[in-house]
Amino acid sequence: MTPSFSIHDYDWPPRVLATPSATREVLEKHGLHARKKYGQNFLIDASVIERSIEAAGITEEDCVLEIGPGIGSMTQLLSRAAGHVVCVEIDTSLEPVLADTLADCDNVTILWQDILKTDLRAVCTEYNDGKPMKVVANLPYYVTTPILMELLSKKGCFSSITVMVQKEVADRIRSGPGSKEYGALSLAVQYYAEPEIVTQVSAGCFFPRPNVDSTVLCLQAYEEPPVQADEGLLFALIRAAFNQRRKTLANALSHGLDYRGRRLSREEVVAALEAFGLPAAVRGEALSLEQFAALSRQLTA
Ligand code: SAM
Repeated sequence: MTPSFSIHDYDWPPRVLATPSATREVLEKHGLHARKKYGQNFLIDASVIERSIEAAGITEEDCVLEIGPGIGSMTQLLSRAAGHVVCVEIDTSLEPVLADTLADCDNVTILWQDILKTDLRAVCTEYNDGKPMKVVANLPYYVTTPILMELLSKKGCFSSITVMVQKEVADRIRSGPGSKEYGALSLAVQYYAEPEIVTQVSAGCFFPRPNVDSTVLCLQAYEEPPVQADEGLLFALIRAAFNQRRKTLANALSHGLDYRGRRLSREEVVAALEAFGLPAAVRGEALSLEQFAALSRQLTA
């Protein structure tokens, strides 16, 4: 059973930050504004955080990775639910804020760096003895896709990923072959988990208010991947196919794939496609995850 999490089960010295007044006061006290360039839209509705923590099933056994703690609204609740919380934050102007708001949270470690330049495997080794961590985050929307692709490609590092994303990204993740939203991110997620919608979140739950709606998604990693493939090659094929999505798959892969120094000729790709009944002119957006896996097996046969 999923452990429940409610802010009412805890004492709150000093206070819950995820409210409109607390968030405004913290920013004013430190003379700061939300920075658009870092995608700062702070959560001002604690119930959204409670539901995310509950969906992720966080307990004291867990070591959680939070990307972008901001002023610490989600972090202070995660700190109560988890054994340890490791945060990665790019905006060093928030250092005095977090020193203040998380002063009573002694199980929180903050790494002041860009998540896209962070060695995630090393974080897992250092803070959780190499065992899988759980990710819980309200992601900066300007870099959602690269962050998710990084997390998903780190096999064995994360047992679940529970994240706030733009609603349009959640729709993209859940789309299938043939739809215009379908792409590398949908396939990478399908390889990792069955995406579950935790809750839809309106723009009014953030300060400042974004001009998009949002969705909390929970991805609980499969114990075994749903398809058989050389994972590195599979991800390389998917990336190359959708980097040039207007091209036929044979053209995209013969120009764009470079996997461990391996390059493919157009003829090689066409032969592999035809071997399992796909036309030479097929585009990547028409292939399911199983068909990409079959292609990778054919190419390594
Ligand atoms: N967790 C807070 C909350 O829910 O109120 C803040 C979420 S805000 C949408 C995104 C956070 O990610 C900001 O604190 C921002 O500074 C941080 N951020 C943006 N780009 C980042 C990056 N590349 N690496 C690490 N943190 C980043």
